[in-house]
Amino acid sequence: MKKIAVLTSGGDAPGMNAAVRAVVRTAIYNGLEVYGVYQGYKGLVENNIKKLEVGDVGNIINRGGTMLYSARLPEFANPEVRKGAIKNLEALGIDGLVVIGGDGSYRGAMALSNEMNIKTIGVPGTIDNDICCTDFTIGFDTALNTIVDAIDKVRDTASSHERAFIIEVMGRNAGDLALFAGIAGGSESLLIPEKKEDIDEVVARIKAGEDRGKKHSIIVLAEGVMSGQDLAKELKERTGEEVRATILGHIQRGGTPSAQDRVLASRLGNYAVQLLLAGESGRAVGIQNNKLVSTKFEDVFGDVHNVDLSIYDVSKQLSI
Ligand code: ADP
Repeated sequence: MKKIAVLTSGGDAPGMNAAVRAVVRTAIYNGLEVYGVYQGYKGLVENNIKKLEVGDVGNIINRGGTMLYSARLPEFANPEVRKGAIKNLEALGIDGLVVIGGDGSYRGAMALSNEMNIKTIGVPGTIDNDICCTDFTIGFDTALNTIVDAIDKVRDTASSHERAFIIEVMGRNAGDLALFAGIAGGSESLLIPEKKEDIDEVVARIKAGEDRGKKHSIIVLAEGVMSGQDLAKELKERTGEEVRATILGHIQRGGTPSAQDRVLASRLGNYAVQLLLAGESGRAVGIQNNKLVSTKFEDVFGDVHNVDLSIYDVSKQLSI
């Protein structure tokens, strides 16, 4: 192993920069040359690849987003398109590739690793925490803190105006962000895709709250269940009460990465390069019970990410 490349792909996540920094510096520390691929797979196909030095990743550990930029390139599912990318890597003499991204990015990385001799490792970077075989993904903790901050603020208005508020949070089909934010923000109700039938309970809680004279409540809603507007409409129809929806949107993806995300990204980025140095390929790194682990891409896709429903049960008991 002499030369490696690193790219970020899919939705950006706070902490991706810390992961890039870790990959670059670990590589250089171990005597490797390292190249940055700009704009994810698009840059790989368009040969937007530049050599990186230690200083190029200075002052980025504290920055959200990704200095390597990200892009979506649906055409990358086409093997002919990937051939061009492989040619560009081979022309530079790259023998290892680190892909930082989510589930879609992993699919691209797995396809590449099956079609070329260049060793490939995936690093989980997405706020959604929806990747199997790792307890946490890079960006999740920062997004969670952003959401909790928003819940605290909305709660001030909710209690002053004695209203129910829905806060719609990201997470695609995973309920992790909503679940953790619901607990940390002390929400009265929580709706996640893994338990979407609980809408009847939300109605019952609003009604029970009213009977006790409590008019305000915070309902944390995962986007994978339904939209905040639709839920507001449904709740109004069923309770007769006006319910407001706040959709947090892309503010959840931005901001300075939390210390937790910086540490996770530094460890996972370092571990990815260690695996390449050990001759490993076709694997995704992750953290389980605070231990670094790696899993074959096939197994990552073969298994589903499961939200921890024991935490859901805790939230139920605490939001009486
Ligand atoms: P994320 O990595 O955050 O899940 P996407 O699903 O948008 O984000 O995937 C990022 C990129 O990965 C896509 O734009 C595409 O270039 C590539 N990709 C996604 N799915 C595949 C696939 N099945 N085969 C090859 N490349 C893929």
